[in-house]
Amino acid sequence: MTRPATAVIGAGIIGCLIARELADRDQDASVIVLDRDAIGAGASRRSAGLFLPRGASARVRRMSAYSQAYYADLRARRPDLPIHPVGATVIAGGAPGQRIARHYDDAEPTQVTSLSCHSLSLPEGTLAWRVPRCHHADVYQVAQALAAELRPMTRFLEGVEVTRLAVTGAAVTMSLSTGEQLVADSVVLAPGPWLASPAWRDLVEPLGLRVKKIVAAHIEQRPGPGAQVVVFDDEDAFLLPLHRRGHWLFSYTCQEWDVDPDALTGSLTAADLAAARDCLRRYSPDLASACLAGRVFCDAYSPEAEPVVRRLDAAGRIVFAGAANGSGYRLGPAISAAAVDLVRARREEITLSKRSHT
Ligand SMILES: Cc1cc2nc3c(=O)[nH]c(=O)nc-3n(C[C@H](O)[C@H](O)[C@H](O)COP(=O)(O)OP(=O)(O)OC[C@H]3O[C@@H](n4cnc5c(N)ncnc54)[C@H](O)[C@@H]3O)c2cc1C
Repeated sequence: MTRPATAVIGAGIIGCLIARELADRDQDASVIVLDRDAIGAGASRRSAGLFLPRGASARVRRMSAYSQAYYADLRARRPDLPIHPVGATVIAGGAPGQRIARHYDDAEPTQVTSLSCHSLSLPEGTLAWRVPRCHHADVYQVAQALAAELRPMTRFLEGVEVTRLAVTGAAVTMSLSTGEQLVADSVVLAPGPWLASPAWRDLVEPLGLRVKKIVAAHIEQRPGPGAQVVVFDDEDAFLLPLHRRGHWLFSYTCQEWDVDPDALTGSLTAADLAAARDCLRRYSPDLASACLAGRVFCDAYSPEAEPVVRRLDAAGRIVFAGAANGSGYRLGPAISAAAVDLVRARREEITLSKRSHT
C-alpha cells in the first residue's frame, strides 16, 4: 500500500469532514480514511442532525458560527444534499433572557400563541424566542456524499479496523484487522465514541473523556407543512419535524454515562421511553403518550463540555478530533478545520527544522 501523508481513522461525519478539509487545503494531499465499519455507520448514522446556532462558551459560539457558514456554502454548492433549513423556537422558563441572548446568535424574543404543532402548549412562566439560521440534515447521507466526492483522490478503506497505533521515528505505523500494516506521516483520530479501543486507549485516557448514551424518541404523527423545531431550553431537549420521513423526533438529555458503543443494540428500553415521556409531558401529554419508538446510540463527551482537538503524542504525529458532546454534526466543520490546522502546523515545524539543519 502506498504511504499516505495523512491517515484519518474513523469515517463518521467528523472523519469525512477532516478528509474534505485536507483535500481543500492541498489538492495533491495523499489521504487515506479507515473505518472498521461502513462510512457514517457509527454515531453519525443515528444522529438527529439538528444544527442550532448556539454555544455556552465563546469558543463554541465561534465554532458554531464557522460551521453554520460552512454548511451554508456546502448547501449552495451541493443543493442535492439532504440539508434542510428549518425555523426554530426556543422555550425557556424563569428569567432566562440573558442566557438565551448569550447562547444563541440573533435570538429574538417572540410572542408565541401556537408552536407550529397544535398539541403543544407553553407552560405558565415560560417565554419563547425565534432563532434564525437553523437546519437539519441526514448525517449518514451527508457523510456518504462527502466521501463519494473525495474518491478516488482520497482513499477510503471500509471494514478495516485499526488494531494498533505506534509512533515509530518519523511516522505512525498502524496495524490493521486485515493483517497488513499502514505507515503514514501523521494520523488524525476521529473515533466517535470508540474511545476505549486498545489501539489508542492509553493515548486518549489523559483527555478525561466519557461516553454517554443519547436517545431520541420517534412520534408517529405527521408534522404539518409549516412545522418547526421547538427547543426546550430548561430540559436541553428538542422536538424536530422530520417532514421527509413523515414523523416527529423528540430528543431529550439522557444521563446514562460510561456506556460501551459495542454493547448498545440500537433498541430503546422501557426506561428510555419513560424518560422521554416524562420530559415531554410538561409541554404535551398527547405527544408524550405517542412516544413509542426511536433511536439510541452514544457519543463522546469532554469535561469542559467543548470539543477536543489535541495532539496525543510528544512528536505531535497523532491528533485527536472529537468529543463533541452530542454536537458532532453541528460543530463538525470547525472541529475538522482545527484538526487540519494542527496536522499542517506539525508539517511546517518539520520542514523548518530540516531547513535549519542544512
Ligand atoms: C441519537 C443521536 C442524536 C444526535 N443528534 C444530534 C444532533 O441533532 N446534532 C448534532 O450535531 N449531533 C447529534 N448527535 C451527535 C452526533 O451524531 C455525533 O457527535 C457525531 O455523529 C460524531 O461523529 P464522529 O465522526 O465523531 O463519530 P462516528 O460517526 O461514531 O464515527 C466514528 C467512526 O470511527 C470508526 N472506528 C471506531 N474504532 C475504529 C477502529 N479501531 N478502526 C477503524 N475505525 C474505527 C467507527 O466505525 C465510526 O464509523 C446525535 C447522536 C445520536 C446518537
